[in-house]
Amino acid sequence: MAKLGFFGGHNGTNESGASGNGLNEKAVAKEAATIATNYAKRCGHTVINAFGSDINGRCNAANSNNVVGVLEFHTNAGGGQGAESFYCAGANDSKNLAQKTVNAGAIKGLKNRGVKPDTSTRFGRLGILRDTKASAVLHELFFIDSASDVKIWKANKTAIVESITAAFLAGLGLKSTPSGSSTPNKSGGGGRAWIVGDKVKVIAAATHYQTGEKIPSFVKGPTYKIKQIKSVNQSRSKRAYLLDSINSWVLEQDCQLVAYK
Ligand SMILES: [Zn+2]
Repeated sequence: MAKLGFFGGHNGTNESGASGNGLNEKAVAKEAATIATNYAKRCGHTVINAFGSDINGRCNAANSNNVVGVLEFHTNAGGGQGAESFYCAGANDSKNLAQKTVNAGAIKGLKNRGVKPDTSTRFGRLGILRDTKASAVLHELFFIDSASDVKIWKANKTAIVESITAAFLAGLGLKSTPSGSSTPNKSGGGGRAWIVGDKVKVIAAATHYQTGEKIPSFVKGPTYKIKQIKSVNQSRSKRAYLLDSINSWVLEQDCQLVAYK
């Protein structure tokens, strides 16, 4: 459990942002911060938003609450496409985190524009990165003046923001998958898709192996490594995992992530 600051850019009463294609940055940023907050809460964390506070208010809220990470959402504008993350120039923690964030946010067809130091902006500095004590990232979700970016955003906003949030939490060394989620591997629902070598548990509610036999109770609890993966179309699952030591196929809906490889 940790306390985090997830903010919407331009969400102060007297701040305004960019607009385009029927969207405005202030509303998109708030919506993204809200999706991120709900996701982090499902992972067991506490989140402050300080909606309505200007940039100084957001920095003060982060510092006075001693958050361990700050993530502020924005949308880009000016004739480009894709996602990019800003870091505090000179701060390696911020740069590493920004790299993870932008990789996780450049999905569903959004281009990856990489990371940039805050000193490269027209302001020369970004307060949300410089005036907060915690590791901080400012993430530009997409270009609000790009019709194709907006289309991708509208169709995939939850998946995009949850992917970013999971990567941000994992980058801070925090729990990044929701507790008791029955479909933690659902696309976009918590970090990357599972691969061979990832560690999982079989959830308490599981009843049958993918192959039909009953799952004995001793199977639920220990941690297993994924040995093999196959595609299925069974119940609510699209994949099944062959787990080591029990050497049995378990549906993805019955597995819960313990740790990535
Ligand atoms: Zn902005």
